[in-house]
Amino acid sequence: MKSQAVLGRSATINGELSPATAFFDVVNPATGKVFAQAPACEREHVDQAMTAARDAFRTWQADDDTRRVALRAMADTLDAAVGELAPVLTAEQGKPLTEAHWEIGGAAQWLRYYADLDLPREVVQDDDSEFVEVIRRPLGVVAAITPWNYPIMLAMWKIAPALRAGNTMVLKPSPFTPLSTLALGEIWREVLPPGVLNVIAGPDPLGAWMTTHPIPRKISFTGSTATGKRVAAAAADDLKRVTLELGGNDPAIVLPDADPAQIAEKLFWGAFANNGQICMAVKRVYVSENQRDELVEALAVLARDVVVGDPLSPDTRLGPVNNRPQFDRVSDLVADALAHGAVAAAGGEALDRPGYFYAPTILSGAQDGSRIVDEEQFGPVLPVVGYRDLDEVIERVNRGNYGLTASVWSADVERAAAVSARLDCGQVTVNSHGSAARPHLPFSGHKWSGVGVENGPWGLYGFTDLQVIARPATASSSSE
Ligand code: NAD
Repeated sequence: MKSQAVLGRSATINGELSPATAFFDVVNPATGKVFAQAPACEREHVDQAMTAARDAFRTWQADDDTRRVALRAMADTLDAAVGELAPVLTAEQGKPLTEAHWEIGGAAQWLRYYADLDLPREVVQDDDSEFVEVIRRPLGVVAAITPWNYPIMLAMWKIAPALRAGNTMVLKPSPFTPLSTLALGEIWREVLPPGVLNVIAGPDPLGAWMTTHPIPRKISFTGSTATGKRVAAAAADDLKRVTLELGGNDPAIVLPDADPAQIAEKLFWGAFANNGQICMAVKRVYVSENQRDELVEALAVLARDVVVGDPLSPDTRLGPVNNRPQFDRVSDLVADALAHGAVAAAGGEALDRPGYFYAPTILSGAQDGSRIVDEEQFGPVLPVVGYRDLDEVIERVNRGNYGLTASVWSADVERAAAVSARLDCGQVTVNSHGSAARPHLPFSGHKWSGVGVENGPWGLYGFTDLQVIARPATASSSSE
């Protein structure tokens, strides 16, 4: 294993360190200072990585058991590396060290889940006349592109099913968090055959070079809706398959029978975990008008009390916002809300310390039509909006462009489930938020929140094409 000083500093192409001639800065968001340099891959690296992946595909697709064994070995290596990897993730992403450990441990679970999952061959006809099977074939090379909020976990939602199905991959992390993903390539150089997983890094144009490259047959992208649309357009020319996991503006709808004091803590963490930088975080709360003040105050108490600070300190629950543009965006959205009549019951401003720290903010008085309610903030600020009529709230929520996740909060679970079924989004949870992101459950955004599915067997199928093989019956096939 490499020493921590160099873990995550080199690209992996064809199973080897790929020397770089150019580098870009990586900033620690807890200090606002550059702390590392990552390799800035060029077009020639994209060519080399794609070619290596295409060459590796020939043998990697052939043997199912080899792939199962490799995924388990990847999980073991990842677990063994957590002590070195977690500080790298924290340094570049800003999440508390305990959460970096959790992210890496969770990623290993994804590898094990897919190692155990079968790629089915379905016999759809077996009689005297014909034997007909439907099989799933891997697509070839997958170009995978990830964001900066959960670099390791979200990469694993792609790596595990894509490799399990027999594809090979070229993976590119966000330029804000390149190191932990580069480290994955490094720790698996001895575990995977050369070329099966290539990891390259660089500023945003690298992503566009990947999506327009002729070799990949699929693009698996997680990031903003704006970039996702560009990816879809780039893929169209070559009819590459796409899976797009995009933005959300996820509502929590509190029914009038819910007890604000009882739900506040779960609701708070549904919104503020990872500093609100989760695609499926609660982005807005709707609560009946007569309960609004009580809920706002309960959330504000939590926001004021939560320990925000150095992500390496064991007491810290929330670190900094990941990067300067995102910090500026959160600041702008809060300023805009306050200028248009919202009131900060907690927070409302940046913290006076180096780095990108923003006080956890609870806003009351913001309405639909304001930026903070209508747009995805992706940061530590939560608007609480009062309502009088539940049907109208459901209609308002469904009218928006996003449809990732939602939650419904109530003392009556059946009633909440009935409301859930009326919401146009990929996952709805009752009396919790975001808790259905698990290896075996489908994760798929409706409308502008995405195209395609990750996780579960559906996520595996997304890395395959169907093939029918129909042949005349033989004595052996019909008696099997
Ligand atoms: P982003 O769209 O700015 O960047 C995502 C990735 O795309 C990065 O690796 C970036 O370098 C790359 N990229 C940029 N331009 C590209 C181009 N033209 N072609 C190809 N790749 C390009 O997103 P971000 O700011 O890193 O992430 C935050 C967003 O991601 C939020 O909107 C969040 O909701 C979303 N997200 C969605 C999910 C999900 O599963 N639905 C999960 C996490 C984050």
